[in-house]
Amino acid sequence: MTTIGIDLGATHVRAGLVDQAGRLSRVVRRVLPPDPAARVRTTRQVLAEYADVAVAAVGVAVAGTVRDGVLTWSANLGLSGVDFAAELGRPVTVLNDARAAGLAEARLGAGAGAATVLVVTVGTGLGGALVTGGRLHEGTGHAGEVGHLVLDADGPPCGCGNRGCWEQLAGGVALNRTGAALAPTGAAQPGAARLAAAVTAGQPRATAALERHAAQFARGLDSLCAVLAPHTVVLGGGLIARPGPIRDAYLAAAGTLRWHSGPVHPARLGDDAGVLGAALAANPS
Ligand SMILES: [Zn+2]
Repeated sequence: MTTIGIDLGATHVRAGLVDQAGRLSRVVRRVLPPDPAARVRTTRQVLAEYADVAVAAVGVAVAGTVRDGVLTWSANLGLSGVDFAAELGRPVTVLNDARAAGLAEARLGAGAGAATVLVVTVGTGLGGALVTGGRLHEGTGHAGEVGHLVLDADGPPCGCGNRGCWEQLAGGVALNRTGAALAPTGAAQPGAARLAAAVTAGQPRATAALERHAAQFARGLDSLCAVLAPHTVVLGGGLIARPGPIRDAYLAAAGTLRWHSGPVHPARLGDDAGVLGAALAANPS
């Protein structure tokens, strides 16, 4: 049976039909309006575009914290307490977007065929998913918040309330901070892009700073591998998707772990991962 996958990201909503073999069709993409309440309305309108299709289930991946089918909080979307089943007028499976993308990569993308797959996404923060036997490990709901692994108790403060979380040392937020300090001009570009440009231009301080971030990235990933012992590691997210020195440094660092000698692959599904993962979560058969 066909399933609808919807990926409600920070700026866009994407949706599509996913068949039993994981093939995606009829992809719809809409820019989200600035008003948070209108964003839920846009999602409802996108779903209505598939009214002519008989579907087995609907899955929604959303950039935020999800508990029991309710989006409890999303800083990106400015939404909290959204019950998608009530809003969309039908049963839906709701999950965090990083978890959805991880599930898709593990089942259909770079991790396909491996028994246990650890997916880490490098964006502004660090997200994650652990997929065992094709199923997402959720625990009480938030399993996969790898970005909040504390690596330095005296490190920079994190939005979660702790200090020195992995994402504050090796996520996009850390690369942005370093890039902005190294190259304060060109403020129109995110700091991470300025850092990458400085490394490409051969600036030794930038190269050394990126190496430090990559080493922090490897340290956190190694700790996760020691605990989880995945067969395959997949690295995704915007900063890995974009070719350049950041991707190269992080993939190289991930190839030198003590606790993981198996494959480390870049993600393969790109922007489709969230839609595919939402559909897979909704129709797990
Ligand atoms: Zn944190």
